[in-house]
Amino acid sequence: MEHVHPDSASGLGLSVVKDWVQNCLANHTDCCQAGPFQLPTHVLDVGVHNGNIRLYSSPGEKAHYLALSHCWGLNQPCKTTIANIEERKISIQFESLPKTYQDTITVARSLNVRFIWIDSLCIIQDNVSDWQRESASMSTVYKNALLTIAAARSADINGGCFAPRPPSVISQMMVLPSTDNDGDDLKIFFRKPILTHTVFSYGFHDADASQFPLEDRAWCFQERILPTRIVHYTNEELVWECNGLNECECGVMQSGKQEPSLREYFQALLDEESPDRAEIWMELITKCSKRKLSFKSDRLHTISGLAKSLQERGFGEYLAGLWKESLPRQLLWSASGRRTPSYRAPTWSFASVEATGILDCCDKIMPSEKTMHLQVLQASVVPAGEDP
Ligand SMILES: [Zn+2]
Ligand SMILES: [Zn+2]
Repeated sequence: MEHVHPDSASGLGLSVVKDWVQNCLANHTDCCQAGPFQLPTHVLDVGVHNGNIRLYSSPGEKAHYLALSHCWGLNQPCKTTIANIEERKISIQFESLPKTYQDTITVARSLNVRFIWIDSLCIIQDNVSDWQRESASMSTVYKNALLTIAAARSADINGGCFAPRPPSVISQMMVLPSTDNDGDDLKIFFRKPILTHTVFSYGFHDADASQFPLEDRAWCFQERILPTRIVHYTNEELVWECNGLNECECGVMQSGKQEPSLREYFQALLDEESPDRAEIWMELITKCSKRKLSFKSDRLHTISGLAKSLQERGFGEYLAGLWKESLPRQLLWSASGRRTPSYRAPTWSFASVEATGILDCCDKIMPSEKTMHLQVLQASVVPAGEDP
């Protein structure tokens, strides 16, 4: 087991991230997205070291960039709007940015990455057409980023990524009154079990919501799955996820992982040979529906990036949260709640109900007892915007 560094802002903490990125780029054939890819429409240009920070409108060139996954919190004073975008293209003061954004800039500079994508700054929030277009391309933005920074520990933009670690996660050392075969003192290292392993190895539990606010937000569900590489900044340690490695800073997770990660569920969904793709999709819907949603009617937006990514890979026709190919099977959802006050989706879609906890009624039926007597003759929906 490795030791957890006392502070994630330290050079040691940053070098852990750098090593993970370099290892992924050099050795993981399953993460062949080395890039660089085309920059998103707007990015934050943070200079290479201490240069001027500004909003940059990309003419379409290719360059490495980081993406940020974070909770906005109740108050989001940092939005880019039609009124302030030109001013932000000239300069943005580092000190004027909230701590989570400052910390992301520090990570980018330590990796020699010049550009960052942050939704509140890089999507013009009061321009409806910009918002619709950019939201619809979110799956590509996260997939093509060199690395996504997840501010897992922060409930809002002021919480930051970096923090001193609680003393309980730092290993204590005890010298035993004995020696090993080489005559050296025998030492043991010990510490309390840490919550990060529970949350990232066994899936999320409601009781942990205060320490892992990002993992409790439905909006951030797909931001955990879509990135090619993601590093989670928790209170206790760093956690790395890519297709080739799922590891925490202390190394326990790699050896003791208990349950497939959300990313692994999604990878199984992409496997055309997998017989359970309809079940896996419903499993993801169930997991996402347990998370908090500011506006309960936004259900479809929280999975639209996943749907779009699957559509691009030939997954078939997407119908308001369900897939036409397995429609009879996926209609067997249940939820306790009322219909959304304004129309959001056809009544046969779970998105038509305001509910926390959508259940798949079919997962309790034994495979040998599942016989389908339905045939879909015709089904179609018309999305309200570019987002599926
Ligand atoms: Zn990798
Ligand atoms: Zn660990």
